[in-house]
Amino acid sequence: MARAPPPPLDGRKRRIAMMTSGGDSPGMNGAIRAVVRMAIEKGCEAYCVYEGYEGLVQGQNFIRKFEWSDVRGWLSEGGTLIGTARCMAFYERPGRLKAAKNMVLNGIDALIICGGDGSLTGADKFRAEWPGLIDELVEKKELTAEQVEPFKHLNIVGLVGSIDNDMSGTDATIGCYSALSRICEMVDYIEATASSHSRAFVIEVMGRHCGWLALMAGVATGADFVFIPEKPRAGNWREEMCKIVARHRQIGKRKTIVIVAEGAHDQDGNKISPDMIKDLLADKSGLALDTRITTLGHVQRGGVACAYDRYLATLQGVEAVKAVLEATPETPTPFIAITENKICRKPLVQAVLDTKEVAKAIEAHEFDRAMSLRDTEFSDIYESYMTTTTTDLNDAMRLPPQKHMRIAIVHVGAPAGGVNAATRAAVAYCLTRGHTPIAIHNGFAGFVRHHDDKPLGAVREFDWLEVDNWASKGGSEIGMNRELPSESGMDTVAALFKQYNFDGLFLIGGFEAFHALSQLRKAQEKYSSLCIPMTLLPATISNNVPGTEYSLGSDTCLNELVRYCDTIKQSASASRRRVFVIETQGGRSGYVATLAGLAVGAVAVYTPEEGISIDMLAADIKHLKKVFREDSGQSRAGRLILINEKASPVYHAKLIADMIRQEAQNRFETRDALPGHVQQGGTPSPMDRTRAVRLAIKCIEHLEKYEDRADSTILGDPMSSTVIGIKGASVVFTPMKDVEEKETDWPNRRPKNEFWLGLKDVVDVLSGRPEVPRPE
Ligand code: ATP
Repeated sequence: MARAPPPPLDGRKRRIAMMTSGGDSPGMNGAIRAVVRMAIEKGCEAYCVYEGYEGLVQGQNFIRKFEWSDVRGWLSEGGTLIGTARCMAFYERPGRLKAAKNMVLNGIDALIICGGDGSLTGADKFRAEWPGLIDELVEKKELTAEQVEPFKHLNIVGLVGSIDNDMSGTDATIGCYSALSRICEMVDYIEATASSHSRAFVIEVMGRHCGWLALMAGVATGADFVFIPEKPRAGNWREEMCKIVARHRQIGKRKTIVIVAEGAHDQDGNKISPDMIKDLLADKSGLALDTRITTLGHVQRGGVACAYDRYLATLQGVEAVKAVLEATPETPTPFIAITENKICRKPLVQAVLDTKEVAKAIEAHEFDRAMSLRDTEFSDIYESYMTTTTTDLNDAMRLPPQKHMRIAIVHVGAPAGGVNAATRAAVAYCLTRGHTPIAIHNGFAGFVRHHDDKPLGAVREFDWLEVDNWASKGGSEIGMNRELPSESGMDTVAALFKQYNFDGLFLIGGFEAFHALSQLRKAQEKYSSLCIPMTLLPATISNNVPGTEYSLGSDTCLNELVRYCDTIKQSASASRRRVFVIETQGGRSGYVATLAGLAVGAVAVYTPEEGISIDMLAADIKHLKKVFREDSGQSRAGRLILINEKASPVYHAKLIADMIRQEAQNRFETRDALPGHVQQGGTPSPMDRTRAVRLAIKCIEHLEKYEDRADSTILGDPMSSTVIGIKGASVVFTPMKDVEEKETDWPNRRPKNEFWLGLKDVVDVLSGRPEVPRPE
């Protein structure tokens, strides 16, 4: 049943509709929640179109108004709760005409579409045709001129929801990291059995025109070989694969993993199927490996979204509503992208064209062009993968002996996901280049203390077979420790650097590692042996290292926290009236609490940056009372408050839970919960693993620039001691001196300007938290 025509635009609320289209992807529900709530927050009415374009064409009950509470709990649901479909009718103009009529009849003047490149192509076509469609509806007397008057301009914003990560112009699509997590989880399982039986597995993953999933899974799991559509092997792939697998077996590997994208083919465009690979690996006259095929199929789409997809979807949903409200008739249709760590708007048409170009380039066998059309992270990761799988087979990469360096690797601080993957990649890169990678065991404490009694125990050359299976290992295989060089004794440290004749130092770790590097840098004036290039790859769950917006391990931590919060929230589903106050780690940085708050939809987040006051607590308790008073009982689970461990010296999780309970007077219950060291994570997330590989290799490449160093060069060059980081839209090395002096809040052990501070407001807005008094 069609609705009555809406009142004219002037004086009425704007109506923003949200739709999901194409294949479903984890995180779509987070985007819907964010769009609905942000639209309402901005004084608009929120609508959802069910079943993609089919719903728009059909109209009637497929287009429904949404209220704030309709999207409660959606962050933790997989797939899309408003449905998605492929719609043939929308490919044709008559279908789009019907869709336009339904939009006008429902008074919708803006549409936010979350889908893949097909859906966004359709969206762009719709917007381009819009004025013509409206005129046609009037001409055919399906609508009157008065009815269409307020709808002369259609406002469309795209959100890229796709597990393939195949859209040009954005580093990640909503859902791709969840799919990657699922794949890596499966490959991790398969590895155990492969190793037990000394078998080979050929694993097929999704991706017809895009090898992102296959490539990233290959990097994250340390697979022996990957096949991706964009970059078929230059020579004879059969020979190359067999040579690499044979070499890996020869050095003692008991398992072989080959990952193949479903769209893989050779240089001439002939399909490479899992069966062809299997036959080759199993060939009795060759490798003769007991080989199995696993096709992962739709498991890759399934399940709840990982932490990253949840907050990406949330932040992009918020940005989409802002883009709608700021658009003028002249604004080109945007889509919301993420580049490195920055959410931005980009022209949709160009991205759609570039995406199609990739497919065309592959079809035309222009593979370099296909690679160049993907984002920089993709080609970086491809290069990283190639260097880490062929350590001693890659003669082209080997440096002449006079350029070989002795590079020490040390872990400082507490374990974080990705530390081992970074070490593995650094070792592989060093071996490929001819350098000697050397492990310092158990941080600086191990370096100095175990030296006398076990001279070769604490410091030893890495062996490739030893590190080869570290790609997915949590913790720190060489051991880590928080002790600083000054505590270990700088004289001894410098003497040992001399004794072992290090040419470069690669540190991996958190704020202590940063502090350690600062001390070593300052000591260079005094000790000539310390005048070597040094670089730090930040790795800490707290994500509090200055010089970067992202530390290895922070993604793993967020995933653990999100899992924990989902479980605990679910536990309240029986009573439905429970508030959990959950204490997170993070040192004096509220990053983890805030991002987890975004990903789970916390009612409030307490951080050290802001602090906690009695007035703030009183306002939040008042708000909770109101929430439970108005809750009709439909909501399925408990409410969460996240509090960082150092948010207040007095108000800790238990005390806050007790205060809320006292005030609630049996109208609802409270519990405090401490996930504690669970937050360090078990198996590192694929994001931490792949970024570990990419950044670690960049670090060693950076150290290599100083292979013919003289002490004076090191002292005079601020870039000889650096921290690598992701800042805004780029990966950068920043001189330690600058970071120490300009960017570091030393007393609070965190960066002076934390990029994520503004995100706290988003948590508040989307949870409906009122303005609360902030501590003075
Ligand atoms: P996925 O990445 O999962 O394949 P997608 O959005 O690319 O997602 P498609 O099946 O290509 O999925 O498109 C979804 C729907 O978008 C189609 O069923 C159709 O209704 C609409 N659509 C796609 N391409 C166009 C087009 N060129 N013109 C009009 N509508 C289109």
